[in-house]
Amino acid sequence: MTQRVPPPNDPVAIAQGLIRCPSVTPAEGGALDLLEALLRDLGFLCHRLPFAEDGGAAVDNLYARLGTGAPNFCYAGHTDVVPVGDRAAWSVDPFAGEIVDDWLVGRGAADMKGAIAAFVAAVAGFHGRRGPDFGGAISLLITGDEEGDAVNGTRKVLGWLTERGETLDACLVGEPTSDERLADMVKIGRRGSLNGALTVTGVQGHTAYPQLADNPLHHLVRMLDAVASEPLDRGSEHFPPSTLQITNVEVGNTASNVIPAQARAAFNVRFNDLHSSDDVETWLRARFDRAIAPAGAARYELAVRVSGESFLCPPGPLSEAVASAVESVLGRRPAFGTGGGTSDARFIKDHCPVAELGLLNATAHKVDERVGLEDLRDLSTVYGAILDRYFAA
Ligand SMILES: [Zn+2]
Repeated sequence: MTQRVPPPNDPVAIAQGLIRCPSVTPAEGGALDLLEALLRDLGFLCHRLPFAEDGGAAVDNLYARLGTGAPNFCYAGHTDVVPVGDRAAWSVDPFAGEIVDDWLVGRGAADMKGAIAAFVAAVAGFHGRRGPDFGGAISLLITGDEEGDAVNGTRKVLGWLTERGETLDACLVGEPTSDERLADMVKIGRRGSLNGALTVTGVQGHTAYPQLADNPLHHLVRMLDAVASEPLDRGSEHFPPSTLQITNVEVGNTASNVIPAQARAAFNVRFNDLHSSDDVETWLRARFDRAIAPAGAARYELAVRVSGESFLCPPGPLSEAVASAVESVLGRRPAFGTGGGTSDARFIKDHCPVAELGLLNATAHKVDERVGLEDLRDLSTVYGAILDRYFAA
């Protein structure tokens, strides 16, 4: 899909252009092409970085850098979007980039093509104010694989940067962190996420002769209750309490007079900086062992999959630059928080300090995803003020 390159200082036009690229993960959809064209015009050196290894989907990524000096301020984000869901429920074409009243409506408007557009426009403005010798470098690390399995996205680009000896000195991630008003929340860390798959095997039998069987469901409900009813912790200075949610219980038994042989459950744990995923697994196994202990023959298997460890970038120069930029533009100070899901910040935090600030998350992934035009322009002004502070002459 080819379209005209929008003016680099207009965040609304850029966001519209990006939304018109149907980049549902893992499709590039023309979104990185458009971004690359914009950034080249601004003087960025662009590298397209397609990866297709390790069992992940083949995806395209973009690393673009303006200036060769240090420090290197990086803006990270993704141009891929989640599917539209119920297409008939949308009031507009989700890939038309339509403006309805004071809203830009479309898939990716909030998460997070709007924010990328705001940053590009901010760089254009910054470049105009400061010229090419601003005393460092600005880079964009944009992946097409954040909403998917994230195997061939940000993590691979970071590896490529390390191999080249290229360092990031600070990173702002543009995920939609705002809760009720634009920029009311800056994320300085994220909870970890662990998925558990629990299988309990008992002894199949007749419900009339339970003494000859061992019902795995009876064990399973006690085990699940043990981990769901006891809190993992009470929260920490920058984090809410860790949570565990049971997401599925599966037996597949259609007979009312048969004690099944096996029962399965799935659950998700969102854990704070008081735990590593190993700690969480140990905590789970201790409670499962205790709950199943009265059993004779029953046994269980627990498989865990960790999609990210918890992390915290303690408030420092980067988060302070972000907070003071928000305050100067919007007249209110943001809160520092760690709620919500995981993001690619979980990979970047191993390379440099990272903070996250973006648009309102209220409509992300929903039907009629949208962003206020004023918010889009204000976020761009905030991003520009962050660059001014970071590269203070
Ligand atoms: Zn996102």
